[in-house]
Amino acid sequence: MKQEVRPVPLSGPYIDAREEELVLDVMRSGRLSLGPTVDRFERAFAEKVGAPYAAAVSSGTAGLHLLCISAGIGPGDEVITTPYSFAATANCFIYEGAVPVFADVDPRTLNLDPAAVEAAVTPRTKAIMAVDIYGYPCELDALRTIAEKHGLALIQDSCEALGAVYRGATLGSHGPSCVFAFYPNKQMTTGEGGMVTTHSEEEWRLLRSLRNQGRGDDGGWLEHVRLGFNYRLDDVHAAIGIGQVEKLDEILALRAQVASRYGELLAGLPGVELPWEDDDEHTRSWFVYVVALPDNATRERVIATFEREQIGYNRYLPSIHLQPYMRERYGFREGMCPVSEDASSRTLALPFFTALDLGDQERVAEVLAAAL
Ligand SMILES: *Cc1c(COP(=O)(O)O)cnc(C)c1O
Repeated sequence: MKQEVRPVPLSGPYIDAREEELVLDVMRSGRLSLGPTVDRFERAFAEKVGAPYAAAVSSGTAGLHLLCISAGIGPGDEVITTPYSFAATANCFIYEGAVPVFADVDPRTLNLDPAAVEAAVTPRTKAIMAVDIYGYPCELDALRTIAEKHGLALIQDSCEALGAVYRGATLGSHGPSCVFAFYPNKQMTTGEGGMVTTHSEEEWRLLRSLRNQGRGDDGGWLEHVRLGFNYRLDDVHAAIGIGQVEKLDEILALRAQVASRYGELLAGLPGVELPWEDDDEHTRSWFVYVVALPDNATRERVIATFEREQIGYNRYLPSIHLQPYMRERYGFREGMCPVSEDASSRTLALPFFTALDLGDQERVAEVLAAAL
């Protein structure tokens, strides 16, 4: 009889009895939303990343949208961003009527190339939306210099980079407002959820109002001082978040260990480019493990083998400007951002999560080697 293969999933959360206990406490308290658990989660998170203020929201996308509103982005504005990211990076300002301007990425880090950003600035540019892709810190200081020179807002989509360190300091502590996300494939999860960190008390108050239907600080339940949303995170999900923050150091260390094991298992495998390495200024927080293969045909061949062997994978990440709705709406075409497009055609996410064990990683490496 043929031996059953054990499937290796692409990702998975890292939760245990502690989160269950915290969730039960909230359920038994009767304070399921707008209760004290959200405040506790915000304080614990802010302290963890070294930001003075944090506002919990219902998703990373919601947090990005609110920062676009806070930055005053509106109809007719241009926002410069990276095509090599998740669609929400651009959707958040399109919601406000702004137009995406995609600047190409650095082929090594896959983050925005500051020179390409500078070249994309026009009199209509309002903001730069930077992303720390795959948890690798973007060129924050260079982007800040460009933003200051041209009077632009700088928003950091750090949804994949919780715990990453740039020039000695954790993302969130530097100054620009950041968004983190807690979908179950991220470093930590609340199911759905997100967090905005800011160094401005005024912005923090605005975020808290915007996420809560535009209610004022001291007005009543039915007084709305601005156009708002229901982007609240509830206390049940915040409870999961508290448990995850408690074990975040452990999570990040285990993920770094999993990544380093892949590094050893895949070293010297011809045709496999490993993720760009850390240096003195950049310490990645491991979100996914994405390798680059020689070309698209090779990637599809590997994928066919992974399918057969029940190994999880994803074609991380397609270039945003070539998504069907983007082509249709703005007429974007191939050739606009060649570096991003090339990466999109041949990068592949391997199974990667906090509790991934060595045996499964060895099997992934063997199957990958065999497919190549
Ligand atoms: C996950 C992610 C988001 C959005 O997060 P959601 O919580 O799913 O809305 C935004 N940007 C990037 C780069 C992400 O990886």
